[in-house]
Amino acid sequence: MLFQWATLALLFILVQVAICAEDFYKILGVDRQATDKQIKTAYRQLSKKYHPDKNPGDPTAKDKFVEVSEAYEALIDPESRKIYDQYGHEGLKQRSQGGGHHHDPFDLFSRFFGGGGHYQRGQPRGHDIEIKVGISLRDFYNGRDTEFQWEKQQICEECDGTGSQDGVVDTCHHCGGHGVRIIKHQLAPGMFQQIQTTCDACGGRGKTIKHKCPVCGGNRVVRKPTTVSLKIERGVARDAKIVYENEADASPDWIAGDLVVTLTEKEPDFENDNPDHVDGVFFRRKGNDLFWREVLSLREAWMGDWTRNLTHLDGHVVKLSRRRGEVVQPGHVDTIEGEGMPIWSEDGDSVYHQTQFGKLYVEYVVILPDQMESGMEKDFWSVFQKWRGKVGVDLHKDSGRPEGPVPIKEEKDEL
Ligand SMILES: [Zn+2]
Ligand SMILES: [Zn+2]
Repeated sequence: MLFQWATLALLFILVQVAICAEDFYKILGVDRQATDKQIKTAYRQLSKKYHPDKNPGDPTAKDKFVEVSEAYEALIDPESRKIYDQYGHEGLKQRSQGGGHHHDPFDLFSRFFGGGGHYQRGQPRGHDIEIKVGISLRDFYNGRDTEFQWEKQQICEECDGTGSQDGVVDTCHHCGGHGVRIIKHQLAPGMFQQIQTTCDACGGRGKTIKHKCPVCGGNRVVRKPTTVSLKIERGVARDAKIVYENEADASPDWIAGDLVVTLTEKEPDFENDNPDHVDGVFFRRKGNDLFWREVLSLREAWMGDWTRNLTHLDGHVVKLSRRRGEVVQPGHVDTIEGEGMPIWSEDGDSVYHQTQFGKLYVEYVVILPDQMESGMEKDFWSVFQKWRGKVGVDLHKDSGRPEGPVPIKEEKDEL
């Protein structure tokens, strides 16, 4: 008997745990210090993910969708968030008995994404919008979490997209709610022409508003700067597209289309993008490879014994050098493995992922001195004269050209 009671008690505890609703912060996947912006972002992502229209045949998705919307509403309102933080679900339950209200989760969804809160049933869909965002080569190389702003059409929060200050929307009595009117023209006695036109009283909407919302002026939508967070993954291709589902202009008349962001490579802004003056901002990118042009003096190119410290896009140093006696021809290209762009991978974020890199090509440009001091010129002249005779090469003979009409000097031309 005692055993049975113990079992029952245990069962009771388990049931209690099961009934106890899950933590709102956990549902949205944010921590307790989350800002309103983070809560909104979490709602935007999760409500789309669990929307029942997108998960046909999965009954748990609907529950998740409702949970997400409840969690959002509880945490976005400062007062209810305070109560929730102090007294939990019980506190909110008591508050809602005192007159608080829940939105229909589909209504809440439509305030974010427009339309009737649904994806299906012939919902009209808004246009996709394409935006180009300029990214510096440095950010393509290192990866970066950043954000950008654009003027987005949003459903007016003041009137919840009704356009009415008091929420009252009447059927237009000019057109009877049809949005169109038939106008009769008399062409001749007894002859009429019927023309169908958009109702000018309601603008074709079929509804009129007596007291227009002061924020949107009855338009139901407002255009305002919207911040979108942007994750640039290491080595992502130039002109790569990132699609934000249903994040284009919103309207109560349609479900928002997609916002498509194209990452373009912008010219480096040396003031802002290059605080530590790395050479890498001058690199040029082609696919996974980088290109750089290094200038050498005549002495360096010919005699060797030089070193260059090339600072890469993340600040690490690539050493270029030649020992004494190592000649670099103008236009010569060094190929340096592993110093190009990181090669983008789907698993780039994983700790198990080892990033591979493309190549860095360094092309050498040799600059000859324009002027020489006369003493220096004399020294070089005599050195060249001395060695021409001994080890010079006859360039004419070397070229394989036929003997010309001009008599060939018996001198050698080049060292
Ligand atoms: Zn009308
Ligand atoms: Zn409004």
